[in-house]
Amino acid sequence: MTYGRLMMETSAPDAVMDIIPILDLKAQYQSLQPDIDRAVARVLASGQFILGPEVQAFEEEVAAYLGVRHAVAVNSGTDALVISLRSLGVGPGDEVITTPFSFFATAEAISLVGARPVFVDVELDSFNLDPSKVAAAITPRTKVILPVHLFGRPAAMGGMMELAQAHGLAILEDCAQSFGARYCPPCKNCPCERATQEALAHRFTGAIGTMGAFSFFPTKNLGAYGDGGLITTNDEELAERSRMLRVHGSRQRYHHEMIGYNSRLDSLQAAILRVKLPHIDRWNQQRRRVAQTYNQALAGLEAVVTPAVSAGHVFHQYTIRVLNGQRDALAAYLKEAGISSMIYYPIPQDHCPMYKGQSPPNPVSDRLASEVLSLPIWPELSDATIEYIAATIRQFFHRS
Ligand SMILES: *Cc1c(COP(=O)(O)O)cnc(C)c1O
Repeated sequence: MTYGRLMMETSAPDAVMDIIPILDLKAQYQSLQPDIDRAVARVLASGQFILGPEVQAFEEEVAAYLGVRHAVAVNSGTDALVISLRSLGVGPGDEVITTPFSFFATAEAISLVGARPVFVDVELDSFNLDPSKVAAAITPRTKVILPVHLFGRPAAMGGMMELAQAHGLAILEDCAQSFGARYCPPCKNCPCERATQEALAHRFTGAIGTMGAFSFFPTKNLGAYGDGGLITTNDEELAERSRMLRVHGSRQRYHHEMIGYNSRLDSLQAAILRVKLPHIDRWNQQRRRVAQTYNQALAGLEAVVTPAVSAGHVFHQYTIRVLNGQRDALAAYLKEAGISSMIYYPIPQDHCPMYKGQSPPNPVSDRLASEVLSLPIWPELSDATIEYIAATIRQFFHRS
């Protein structure tokens, strides 16, 4: 297999495999093994497994990194969304404006608190919620705008913030795919917008809106070795409500003040995340390097649109658009050559049976669902493998 030979020449021998996966988590563990193993042993010896000092230390460290006043660690990214919405007082009768082009947890969280997701179309180049279309969807029932920083690219927050301020709405950022992404660096190809640009420049996603929701699912840019999530906010009261909601609606044990959840981060995951956090900027930089290498290797193909690389983008996925209805054939061709690829997402959220026909059509999102193809990406992905994948894509388009 070509990949096996390639890897033996270029990288660790134990990375040899027949199929190039979409993501390889083993390289990262190997590079951190002594530190991770020590952290795990420390927790096992401590006898404290839920919340506790490890979780508190992680919350302080991650809040300092992101530049937010409060970080509340929970059980998953989905729970982070649900608990944030509950903390914001969203419930039955309310509407939350969001993108149809996201993982289903985004809309699901809105429905789980009893509110209605209102899907507004996305931008063709960024795949993210289009602020110019959000205004028309605001009604007296609208409570929150919920943008997703899809694939690690910050959404156009400036436009969203102006709308939220003008209409008295909260913004909840879905940062599940964007840990370490920064909004609006002064470079080309970033979603720059005039008025709020200065004030928001360089802020981390999750530190811009009213609240942020992160996921530490193992495949995310900052991944635990199990489920985990985080809520961020600068608002003391929202943080306090979130802390109560994650432990059955109580401030003090057995004094329950509201209907909450069991959504606590466990100490093992916190200890592992504390080992990984200091490395996240380097890993995200390596992801941008992978994206840049792909872009160069795929340049000039007429039927392939590559994503813009900006300084704040953390490339949770490297996703191209394949034009002229050739996406599925290309994916099959890659599979034949031992290269994994994924379609995130084949069915936009507004097409799920639960939501079908409830909002006006979103043609850009629909188009993306038929064109997008995500290629293998992880920080340690080698240039040789990227070149092989790109060469295979070129072969597909140049075959007779
Ligand atoms: C992964 C993900 C979630 C959910 O996170 P979990 O930790 O898996 O619950 C929510 N939104 C988006 C955009 C995601 O990618």
